[in-house]
Amino acid sequence: MAERIPRQTMSEQNPLERIKNFNEVPLGFSTETAVIEAKRCIQCKNPNCVEGCPVNVNIPGFIKEAAEGNFLKAVEIIKGTNSLPAVCGRVCPQESQCEKLCILGKKFEPVAIGKLEGFVADYERKVEHLNPEKPECTGGRKVAVIGSGPAGLTVAGEMAKCGHGVTIFEALHSPGGVLVYGIPEFRLPKEIVHYEIDQLVKMGVEIIPNRVVGISESLDDILERFDAVFVGTGAGLPSFLNIPGENMQGVYSANEYLTRVNLMKAYQFPHYDTPVIKGKSIAVFGGGNVAMDSARVARRLDCNEVHLVYRRSRSEMPAREEEIHHAEEEGIIFDLLSNPVRFIGDEKGKLTGVECVRMELGEPDDSGRRRPVEVKGSEFVIYIDVAIIAIGNGPNPIVQKSSPGLETNKWGNIVADDETMKTSKKGVFAGGDIVSGAATVIEAMGAGRKAAAAINDYLATGEW
Ligand code: FAD
Ligand code: SF4
Repeated sequence: MAERIPRQTMSEQNPLERIKNFNEVPLGFSTETAVIEAKRCIQCKNPNCVEGCPVNVNIPGFIKEAAEGNFLKAVEIIKGTNSLPAVCGRVCPQESQCEKLCILGKKFEPVAIGKLEGFVADYERKVEHLNPEKPECTGGRKVAVIGSGPAGLTVAGEMAKCGHGVTIFEALHSPGGVLVYGIPEFRLPKEIVHYEIDQLVKMGVEIIPNRVVGISESLDDILERFDAVFVGTGAGLPSFLNIPGENMQGVYSANEYLTRVNLMKAYQFPHYDTPVIKGKSIAVFGGGNVAMDSARVARRLDCNEVHLVYRRSRSEMPAREEEIHHAEEEGIIFDLLSNPVRFIGDEKGKLTGVECVRMELGEPDDSGRRRPVEVKGSEFVIYIDVAIIAIGNGPNPIVQKSSPGLETNKWGNIVADDETMKTSKKGVFAGGDIVSGAATVIEAMGAGRKAAAAINDYLATGEW
């Protein structure tokens, strides 16, 4: 029986080798392994897995094609609802979405949906290209997209398919949002993101980089020239610990650290202009994907000792299990149930250490996770020369601050309708992290799809 075939595994770079490079960690499925894995799917009539996918990819449909070796057809099916399969195959939390609901998971291991998605998308990029989609209709209107992360790219693609003229305004010099400045090369090679963006450009999407909307021109200026605007400016404003010594030399926000290394290629300094302090001993504060990425990047920058300081225990960590496992394999030291109290420096203001305190878990808080409580008198010092703060990000504030009439909530996120992504300003839609707060790639894309459908209706009817 198909379900008795064990779930196929992917070989990976050896941890001792991979900490010396920025190449991708998993080595990918072979064609044979991909076909074997695809054949495990029992083609459920009412597939639970599809319900678990925020953009409802036709999972059995694409897997059926993959099982028959029709990889291009498989990608075409995925691209019907997900324009970034090579990205999602790598970074989506499948274990808590589609694969969590896969029927095989009840008795056996779920189908490796994410890895199959990545495989067929890689096949399309490397072996046999799909032609960029031709517009399905001739909309002929002008749509502006602010921000080129997964939310903005999704809206741009959908609008281009409908024959509208699309212009993306992006603050950074390179489009892609967190996919290019945040997630490291060894988890998501940038070549993949550039390829997907090139597809949009071939469909006629114009991208204007280095354009910070709200500074170079306002949302209202843009509204005068376009029929509708989508705001997908993300959550890139770092939160800080607010403890003494946080402005010492050697203390980075994860955003700055990762941007320097990923986008500005500081790991190839001086070949590239941007430096980053390569500490001998580093501590990263936080327990999510951003913290894991920062720790694993630091490990690859000749650092002898990388600590990950987290105030709860391993089971409460919000990072994906795969990332935690990879970090452990790479020798990251997990200082769990520990919280920083103050940074310590020398007379020149250079970081030399961090004082932490031990924690224990108390009653559950609003998030359902047990609340960490300080253990009195348990202070200890970790000697470090670089600290990276990865405890969360708030909404990028510039568009909201410079746009009268654009409603925001108490955290500064743009308020938008759940179904249409309409904001309080006529003709302006918003979605992704700027509305939901920091979430996931696929959720940002889901919001982009909803917004695109509503923008189309608005452009057709003029009704708000
Ligand atoms: P973003 O990707 O943040 O893109 C917003 C874009 O808007 C940026 O390019 C920004 O420069 C631009 N912008 C901002 N302000 C302006 C302005 N005023 N004018 C013009 N442009 C502007 N999710 C997962 O699903 N899996 C993961 O493994 C994962 N790992 C992550 C690792 C890191 C380090 C980080 C930071 C996040 C991670 N996430 C992950 C979360 C995921 O990347 C985000 O939820 C997703 O990128 C949100 O997409 P977005 O389009 O809303 O915003
Ligand atoms: Fe295939 Fe699992 Fe989806 Fe069923 S639930 S269709 S077995 S992937």
